[in-house]
Amino acid sequence: MVYNIDFDIAAIGLLLFSLFYLFYKKGIRKGTNSVFLLIVSTSLISAVADIASAISQAVAGQGEILMMDFWNHLFFGVHNLLPFLFVLYVLYVLDIAKNVNKLQFFILSVPVIAELVLLASNPFTRCMFYYDASGAYTRGRLFFVFYIGAIFYTFAAIILSVMFRKLISTNKFISLLFFTVMGIVPVLIQYKFPYVLIDIFCQSLAILNILFSIENKSDIINPNTGVYNRYAFLSAVDSTLKRGECTLLVVKLANVQFYYTTLGVEYVNGVLEEIAQWLDDRHSKLICYDCEQGHFALYGKKISDEEKVKLKTEILDRFHSAWEYKSMGSVFPIEIYDVRPRVDVETMEDLLLILDTPFNDLVSEEGNVTDAVVTHQRRMLVEKVIQEALDKRKFQVWYQPILDSSTGRIVSAEALVRLTDEKLGYISPEEFVPIAEQTGMIVDIGAFVFDEVCNFYKTNNLLDLGIDYIEINLSVVQCMNSRLVDAFDKVLKKHGLEAKHINLEITESAASDSRHTLMETVNALKERGFTFSLDDYGTGYSNISYMYDMPFSIIKLDKTILWSALHPQNGMGDENAMIFLENTIKMMKDMKYKLIAEGIETQEQRNLLQKLKCDFFQGFYFSKPVPGDIYLDMLRKQVAVTD
Ligand code: C2E
Ligand code: MG
Ligand code: MG
Repeated sequence: MVYNIDFDIAAIGLLLFSLFYLFYKKGIRKGTNSVFLLIVSTSLISAVADIASAISQAVAGQGEILMMDFWNHLFFGVHNLLPFLFVLYVLYVLDIAKNVNKLQFFILSVPVIAELVLLASNPFTRCMFYYDASGAYTRGRLFFVFYIGAIFYTFAAIILSVMFRKLISTNKFISLLFFTVMGIVPVLIQYKFPYVLIDIFCQSLAILNILFSIENKSDIINPNTGVYNRYAFLSAVDSTLKRGECTLLVVKLANVQFYYTTLGVEYVNGVLEEIAQWLDDRHSKLICYDCEQGHFALYGKKISDEEKVKLKTEILDRFHSAWEYKSMGSVFPIEIYDVRPRVDVETMEDLLLILDTPFNDLVSEEGNVTDAVVTHQRRMLVEKVIQEALDKRKFQVWYQPILDSSTGRIVSAEALVRLTDEKLGYISPEEFVPIAEQTGMIVDIGAFVFDEVCNFYKTNNLLDLGIDYIEINLSVVQCMNSRLVDAFDKVLKKHGLEAKHINLEITESAASDSRHTLMETVNALKERGFTFSLDDYGTGYSNISYMYDMPFSIIKLDKTILWSALHPQNGMGDENAMIFLENTIKMMKDMKYKLIAEGIETQEQRNLLQKLKCDFFQGFYFSKPVPGDIYLDMLRKQVAVTD
């Protein structure tokens, strides 16, 4: 009977293409990749041997039987290696190969070793296959061992893939299963058509599938630097982060954006490629990942502390000298973080924080990242507390009196939000307001404060107590919310309060944010009758055009201006700061703004501001922020004294 070798020829075509693709794409020859290369090469050899043996059988003369015997031995040798290699491949793809100990590896190798030993002895024992009197190939009495081996490895591959299913994507999982299925299908086909050599063809289809799914590097390689990209890093790290048995060094170049604009994209890209390749070659156990923005991760198996120190020194030394590209050299300052999984980072969020925080922004010495992570964890905690406080209405509003400088009477107050948590204690708005702004929770906090203040003003009839208006801090984030004006309207209506009794404080730094939307909201609020103060004047961008455009009636001098001119503790002052304070007050008054000085803590400061004719005073010298009822007591006493 003549064997049909057409499928084998097709298989050779597919396998040659796979080899070409693997080399052409120059993927990174580590772990999975080298085992895969072995699988492709072995399949190719078995296809060639299969064809050669079929041809020799077809022309079976005495000489050819010898030839046929050689090819058959070669064929069974390499062909039976494949299921074993595939299990190895599965171990690498699942990233658990390193956890397999020597004994487990030995057990796994037993069937393949047995097959190879039997095969090697076959020329003498003829227990696997032989040739009958007519010279036809015939199965020997131990041929079934090949089947046992194949079944053993097929089950091992399936069980491993299913057991560790969670460690890989669905795509990878399906590709692995497809490979095992393609090992079983030809057995069924050959049962019906024993002379059609189809199994290597099926295998090459499965190989092709893996090539374009698991081994497809184009979506995990950065095309510019040629090393793995950020996505690859995050997937690689995801499964090992919790186990902690790994090394992670984050290398950050300073301000790559700046280099792009000054040195040009082409040049910087060229240098980054060189840097990435250089980093990738540093240690056989560590792979370099390009995590964008000039941030690289060297990540891989655990290396010793000495090795790590040596590596860090080597990298730092190299970066002291220039990187050359197209005969132009530049020095790139770097910093290296030695990230210890499970110590410095526990969650993916911790890791992203370390990875993405710009150069120099992680407060750390000698590459220790703990500070940054502690800050981050505190932030997450505060975020939770804010949310809880909103749900349970745990925020409070306190009032800090504002006095008229000429009469010394309390004429207003600044409403300041307060938050106390059972576990964390008092949390300053300096800490939680920025967090609430970043998460958008400031909108709800602002709504709460506004409602509280309106209620406070109305129920206690503050107008009768000499209070024309209360000042409320308005975050720019609130102004970006299109529903703010309507929401404020509703609350005013609910309490039967006019908008003129509320003065909204907006900070100066707000100038840089989307000015247009801000202006629209502010103008709409102005139309309703609200008035506005510019808060913290002198700390932000000192943008004069912002001051002109916005309908401010009051300017609040930031306490740092006063303190630089006359410090509350040591009574010292800077001469230029004093000149600045004097002239700012004069200038503002000439421009017809009312002025509030905040942060007055001493009599000297108060006297100075009185002399400079500042309109209003606010500060600990008069009163710290106090709860509403205490503020009311102050007002009532004040009224009583006048009466
Ligand atoms: P701010 O608007 O500049 O408020 C004045 C801050 O200075 C208050 O701090 C106040 O307690 C403090 N202060 C006033 N006089 C003195 C003094 O004599 N000495 C010292 N050392 N400090 C003084 P607080 O309450 O911690 O608020 C900090 C910042 O948090 C506020 O700065 C404001 O920007 C923000 N904030 C407070 N409440 C709210 C709110 O309801 N909404 C929004 N969006 N921000 C708020
Ligand atoms: Mg304020
Ligand atoms: Mg202020």
